[in-house]
Parts: sequence; structure tokens; C-alpha cells
Amino acid sequence: MDRSVFDKLSKCIAPGRIIENARLSEYTSFKTGGPADILVKVGNSIEIQRIVAIAKESDVPFYVIGNGTNMLVSDEGYRGIVICLREMDNDIRAEKASNGDYCRLSCSAGCTLARLSSEAASMGYSGLEFAAGIPGSVGGAVVMNAGAYGGEIKDVFEYADVLDENGDVIRLKREDMDFGYRKSIIQEKEYIVLDVMFVLKKGEENAIKAEIKELNERRREKQPLEYASAGSTFKRPEGLFAGKLIEDAGLKGFSVGDAAVSEKHCGFLINKGKATSTDIYELISQVIEKVYEKSGVVLEPEIKLLGFEE
Ligand SMILES: Cc1cc2nc3c(=O)[nH]c(=O)nc-3n(C[C@H](O)[C@H](O)[C@H](O)COP(=O)(O)OP(=O)(O)OC[C@H]3O[C@@H](n4cnc5c(N)ncnc54)[C@H](O)[C@@H]3O)c2cc1C
Repeated sequence: MDRSVFDKLSKCIAPGRIIENARLSEYTSFKTGGPADILVKVGNSIEIQRIVAIAKESDVPFYVIGNGTNMLVSDEGYRGIVICLREMDNDIRAEKASNGDYCRLSCSAGCTLARLSSEAASMGYSGLEFAAGIPGSVGGAVVMNAGAYGGEIKDVFEYADVLDENGDVIRLKREDMDFGYRKSIIQEKEYIVLDVMFVLKKGEENAIKAEIKELNERRREKQPLEYASAGSTFKRPEGLFAGKLIEDAGLKGFSVGDAAVSEKHCGFLINKGKATSTDIYELISQVIEKVYEKSGVVLEPEIKLLGFEE
């Protein structure tokens, strides 16, 4: 990449936050993936706007990642600028209704869902219990309409401030978001989520914390959290379960190199230690093919691919 791009970035981003040839395996939960030409760890949304402006005027591609927990990055990495939000300011702002019945909580897209859920629980507000064990950022969760145990981001979402394709910050309310199963309008439009406002109902602190504890125990029991993964790799086909289809196709433990179908939960593809992204990609392809042969169902990846050819 042209040196002038690095120089322009250096004028508006603090030293140490711009990394050349950044190993993306350090920024993804699969712990695989090659280098990005440049990765910038942004501190706030103004920096995101500046980087996007520099990328556009320099004609360099850019890609946003939150916590990298729903992504597979190719072993060749990414030719462009990765804007990484996981070190964004982490302040959570609360506005309680005068009668205390509900509370509005806002935070940056880089805040973790786990922190937001825990803060809400400590304040005695309910609605984010389902999100406590989802390891993503708030921005990534809005983009994916993340959900678990009967809850989804859309249930507690009020609005998000996003950067649009013209570099303007616009506010999207719930009705603008076109939320669906693991989808939102952000994926289509390629907006960047900057800040999000949630609304939670008054609850009882101990009951909320007990619910979070129970859900996290269920996760530990059922999911292979001891291995690197991106959670459930495939979307749930309507009325069916991806894990069950994979198990029924005889693929429990099936592997390509160190990439394997988890024996504990067949919906999770895991990195047993030294898997490459190529191994994981090949495993995904083989699982799709074999499940189709066995059941006629075409599994669709839930995870986002970066740096692979279409
Ligand atoms: C062990 C484990 C368990 C999981 N359990 C669940 C679960 O129960 N339910 C569930 O729904 N998911 C689950 N996941 C998947 C994942 O945590 C969620 O999808 C999460 O919401 C992704 O957030 P992220 O910040 O990691 O996104 P990333 O992986 O960083 O990004 C995902 C996509 O969103 C885009 N993106 C990220 N941030 C922004 C932003 N601010 N603006 C615009 N685009 C953005 C990226 O470009 C990418 O396309 C699990 C993952 C793991 C590893």
C-alpha cells in the first residue's frame, strides 16, 4: 500500500494504534488468518470517520471488525485497512425513567456485550441476560442481530448512530433496521455502527444475575468453549437445527487438519490448535456438501468471510 496512506493515518491516530502487517489471527476468535496491510485500533467514532475519509480519498479498501468472534479471515489476510473497534471507549451511559420502570443505556459499538449485560444486571435492569455469554462487541451484535435462549438484540434496541456511505452520521431506529434472523440492514448497506441505545425494563438484580449465571452454565455444559471457534458456524435452517443435521450426516468429530466438527456440539466448528483458515474453509465446504447429500438441506454459513474470493 502507498506509504502516504500510513502517513495520513499517523496525523490523526495516536502512535501505537496503527499496526502494519497486523496478524489478524490475533483479532479473531478462530485464531487464524493472515496479515492486514494496516490495522487501526480506534479509540472513538471521530477516528472511524477520519479513517474512512482517508481510505476513500486514497482509494484503499477498508473493513470493520468488532471482537472478531463471527468471522473467518483468509490465510492471505486483507489488502487494505482493518478498522478494529475492540479498544473503543467503553463508557456506558444510563438514563433512568423518572418512575424507574425502564432505563435507556447507550454505549459505543466497541463495548463488549458481556460488559453491557453485566452493567445492566448490576443496575437491576432486565433484557440483556441472553447476551451475557455472547463474546462479541455491541456493534457486531447489532449487525448480526445476535441472539440466544429466546432473546435477540432487536428486542432491546432503540436506535443506533451509524456512518453511512456518504460519510454522514445518521440515526437508525428499530423500524429502520430490517432485523431478521442473524441479519440487519447494516449488512446490506455496509454502514458502520458507531453508538447504540438500548431500552431495558426494571427487574430484580439478584434474579437477573441468577438468570445470567444459569445461562452461562448451560453454555459451558453444551458448547466447546475450551476451543477457538466462531460459535455456531451455520445459520439454523427454518424448523431444523444445523448441529443435528451435521451429526445425522455422521460428521461428529470430522476434521480437516486441525479444524474439526466439535464432538460436544456439532454446530460448532473448532480450531483444535494449529488449524489454518484454509482448513476451516475446506471443512465448512465439506460439511455443506455432506449434509446436503444426506438430508437435501443446504446449510448457510452464519460467519462472515474476509479475504476469500466470492
Ligand atoms: C463461543 C462463541 C459463542 C457464540 N454464541 C453466540 C450466540 O449465542 N448468539 C449469537 O448470535 N452469536 C454468537 N456468537 C457469534 C458472535 O459472538 C456474534 O455474532 C457477535 O455478535 C459478533 O460480534 P463481533 O463484535 O465479534 O463481530 P465481528 O466478528 O467482529 O464482525 C461480524 C460482522 O459484523 C461486522 N461488524 C462488526 N462491528 C461492526 C460495526 N461496528 N459496524 C459495522 N459492521 C460491523 C463485521 O464487518 C463482520 O461482517 C458466538 C461466538 C463464539 C466464539
